[in-house]
Amino acid sequence: MPGLDEKLADTYAEVLRRNPGESEFHQSVHEVLDSLGPVVAKHPEYADAAVINRLCEPERQIIFRVPWVDDSGNVQINRGFRVEFNSALGPYKGGLRFHPTVYLGIVKFLGFEQIFKNALTGMPIGGGKGGSDFDPKGRSDGEVMRFCQAYMTELYRHIGEYTDVPAGDIGVGEREIGYLFGQYKRITNRYESGVLTGKGLAWGGSLVRREATGYGTVFFVEEILRHRHDSFDGKQVVVSGSGNVAVYAIERVQQLGGIVVACSDSGGYVYEEKGIDLDTLKHVKEQRRGRLLDYATERTATFVENRPIWEVPCDIALPCATQNELNGTDAATLVRNGCTVVAEGANMPCTPEAARVFAEAGTVFAPGKAANAGGVATSALEMQQNASRDSWTFDHTLDRLGDIMRGIHERCLTTADEYGAPGNYTAGANIAGFTKVADAMLALGV
Ligand code: GLU
Repeated sequence: MPGLDEKLADTYAEVLRRNPGESEFHQSVHEVLDSLGPVVAKHPEYADAAVINRLCEPERQIIFRVPWVDDSGNVQINRGFRVEFNSALGPYKGGLRFHPTVYLGIVKFLGFEQIFKNALTGMPIGGGKGGSDFDPKGRSDGEVMRFCQAYMTELYRHIGEYTDVPAGDIGVGEREIGYLFGQYKRITNRYESGVLTGKGLAWGGSLVRREATGYGTVFFVEEILRHRHDSFDGKQVVVSGSGNVAVYAIERVQQLGGIVVACSDSGGYVYEEKGIDLDTLKHVKEQRRGRLLDYATERTATFVENRPIWEVPCDIALPCATQNELNGTDAATLVRNGCTVVAEGANMPCTPEAARVFAEAGTVFAPGKAANAGGVATSALEMQQNASRDSWTFDHTLDRLGDIMRGIHERCLTTADEYGAPGNYTAGANIAGFTKVADAMLALGV
């Protein structure tokens, strides 16, 4: 494989052989292995104990049937997944994604990313991910509830506060976590708050968890800018997506004086020269579970269908929608239009080609493992509060999140320096995340 040294190329070939057709998983593995050349050169002990090969094979993969009854009385069948990838640092931790594109390859890519992201936060959490090909779009509240109950009816036996702690991801927010938690409690007769995170405030949730991924991404960029003696003030920002990550990234950028001129959903993007109106966006997306077109209609704003949002000129781009949403052509357009910083609020939204374009152009690129770790880090803070039966103030929790994001930024830069790739956030994130997990795996034995 081009770019990988011999041992890593063998590992990668083995991953391809063992996981046929799982292209997103292959992509995420290749992206990490690509950074590890200098690490295996310096630390032969990792290869001796087959640490990298072990890391690429999930500790456990669970696939199950989820039967449920729709509003018309018909039985529907979906497929449920939970990949418990690595528990060297703590219980498996990672979200659940409900989306029709979900299959084993997506869950594995997300679980693999989660291992290194979670390690980078410095919190005691392993990596995992789950989900289903269930499509919540157009489903009634009752249908979502029955689906979540059916999903948990199988999942409950695999999770627990010391084993595996799921949370939300695309298609899974506070409502779904509520139905899942209710079913877990019903089946087990345990009020085990720490078994799920992203809970509502009245039943064990943490302040700032809702905002955490979007805010965290912006904290990270703030730190990048600060290192360059710059700030968000007056910057034109484009944020893709309009879900939980995007909404709170937009909120934080606005608090820091930046202007978010565009955001998107699967139907297209909305452009507002003076900036997106957050109240209307929250009302449409959070209260009405509506589409961005409804927002555009309400605001009489420009809605552009079937065009990439990346054609909108900006200083800073925050891809906050989904994997591979920003390709090489989009990256070239961004660079041409003067974008200087790109930070991934979503998981792997930039293709490898896009990352290459940014690297060649000298555009600062912050990978999701570092830039979107604020969500899962705050989940770990939620677990801390659950374990001590406490609840912290908004300000205290936000301070902790800010410290964690600044810590990740620092760790990326010092690690990149140490391994001869100064300023390379991807190398820094991959190597710092990897060495932390690898050292724990060595200590715990085969
Ligand atoms: N789904 C989020 C992520 O990609 C959060 C996971 C969690 O809070 O466990 O990191």
